[in-house]
Amino acid sequence: MPFSSREWHLVRRPVGEPTTSDVALVTATVPDPGPGHVVIRNDYLSVDPYMRGRMDDRESYIPPFGLNEPMTGTAVGTVISSQSAEVPVGATVTHFLGWRDYAILPAGQVQIVDTQLASPQAYLGVLGTTGLTAWAALKEIAPVKEGDAVFISGAAGAVGSVAGQLARKLGASTVIGSAGGPDKVKRLTQHYGFDAGLDYREGDIAGQLAKAAPNGIDVYVDNVGGDHLDAALQVMNLRGHVALVGAISMYNATELPAGPPHLPLAIGKRITLRGMNVGDHLHMVPEFIQKASGWISDGSLVADETVVHGIGNAFEGFQAMMRGVNVGKMLVRLSHT
Ligand code: NAP
Repeated sequence: MPFSSREWHLVRRPVGEPTTSDVALVTATVPDPGPGHVVIRNDYLSVDPYMRGRMDDRESYIPPFGLNEPMTGTAVGTVISSQSAEVPVGATVTHFLGWRDYAILPAGQVQIVDTQLASPQAYLGVLGTTGLTAWAALKEIAPVKEGDAVFISGAAGAVGSVAGQLARKLGASTVIGSAGGPDKVKRLTQHYGFDAGLDYREGDIAGQLAKAAPNGIDVYVDNVGGDHLDAALQVMNLRGHVALVGAISMYNATELPAGPPHLPLAIGKRITLRGMNVGDHLHMVPEFIQKASGWISDGSLVADETVVHGIGNAFEGFQAMMRGVNVGKMLVRLSHT
């Protein structure tokens, strides 16, 4: 029997910071599943910084959201109706039709997850693409060597908090993080094991970093861009590596900054700056899930979640994440769970 579901549509392309006038919560009908299809009751939705880019109409590695169409993103849920032998009713699955109560899609487009290893929502965060981003950045993009000094920006967030802990596991001797506000900065050292935390809202991130890293840094995981990247270039050691993971400080910008003024330092210091897209690293998923789930179980990897409740608050959750309300992974828990 068809039934109704609510879904978020983009109705206007935001200029600067997205507002509630840019989106609408719309009621849609979920039909009976056809052959090979499954219906999923979404339990948790992921809200992520890259979604801001999809609200703009420009070419990227992922298409923009269509206007007056449901937005998409990762979600985890429970199969409630199935026309597929491979994905039975009751299975917990991840898929890409987030931003809605219920999803209907071909069984080949969902992944069954092992809830014995970790909670379902962990597959949207530490065991999902955010955790994998941290792992791939430190293993393949800007590889950490024993004894390296590592700097991570956005360090209290989903990628950053995991990256700090993984850098230590990979042999970093010093791990420095930056985040917004004293509570988050305290959390870096007291909760995630960073050696030092910098509060970028206090200003002079370059001065703070130089003081925290008197012997320079060897690896920088850039989640923020702008002044953070510029600060890292100034203290980077010879042949250092930068993983260009994200530039959230610019995602709402209506005018782009002139650039990191210290970029030419990369020439003399032979710095490697390498952009990354987690989609290029999916081959690492099985190994990463096995390792990370073990670390979560033995308590050596802390993965925080900040949860907002209800489909009606999903967009507010996205806005809150962009403003830094979250520690760890920002998630939306749907009220039927
Ligand atoms: P997140 O860090 O959990 O949440 C975003 C955080 O960004 C906020 O909590 C906020 O923390 C910080 N922020 C917002 N505006 C800022 C500003 N102007 N300056 C400095 N920090 C600011 O999000 P995430 O999912 O882990 O993503 C982190 C970064 O990784 C993003 O840049 C994202 O685009 C990128 N990413 C890239 C890939 C890839 O494949 N390349 C994959 C996943 C994520 P504060 O309170 O500290 O400001």
